[in-house]
Amino acid sequence: MGPRALEITPEVYQVGGPGFTSSDDAAIYLISVEGDAVLIDSGCGHATDLLLANIESTGTPLDAIHQLLLTHCHFDHTGGAADLRRRLNCSVVAHALDAPAIETGDPMVSAASWYGDHLSPCTVDRKLNQSQEILNVGARVIDVIHIPGHSPGSVAYVFESRGQRVLFGQDVHGPLHPDLRSNAKDYQASLHRLLEVDADVLCEGHYGIFSGKAEVSDFVERYIA
Ligand SMILES: [Zn+2]
Ligand SMILES: [Zn+2]
Repeated sequence: MGPRALEITPEVYQVGGPGFTSSDDAAIYLISVEGDAVLIDSGCGHATDLLLANIESTGTPLDAIHQLLLTHCHFDHTGGAADLRRRLNCSVVAHALDAPAIETGDPMVSAASWYGDHLSPCTVDRKLNQSQEILNVGARVIDVIHIPGHSPGSVAYVFESRGQRVLFGQDVHGPLHPDLRSNAKDYQASLHRLLEVDADVLCEGHYGIFSGKAEVSDFVERYIA
């Protein structure tokens, strides 16, 4: 398999996930603007060389990546984080409530044991702790929304690109499980919060990319009790 990236907008690409890197990876997205770039999630870390080649295939130099934004602590999203932080010399961003599992490599809370694997502990350089806050890529804004439920520190990232509001919701579909410290009431409230974003594009962790406001809201509403 050669390097592969899917253009979502001229600034947003899928660069990892099944068919891109490793079949057990959750989707990995890249935002690349004005010589600055961020990655959203890291996959399990089984195909990092291919991930880096995929990123370069978009015309984004690896030294443009200054931040790795993690949506939550689960292994399929974070297993590659420690290696990427070292190789890209980037800072890692995650919510304070999921940071301990990432920093200790907690096998249960991170779900690494479900995958029969271990999570390499990774320093979280910036711990998000507000219900809503702002990050930057170049001179542009990425909104962070805390969406607890699937995990206590799940977050969604929102980026406006060429008139399209792109929502990186990742594990919108759940699942909920006591080992993951899921909370059903929080999850339902978070789904409503995601609908309020009124996104044009939803980039999900495992179910692909949904385009158009109706497709996005139909998908989120499937999980509303
Ligand atoms: Zn998850
Ligand atoms: Zn996942």
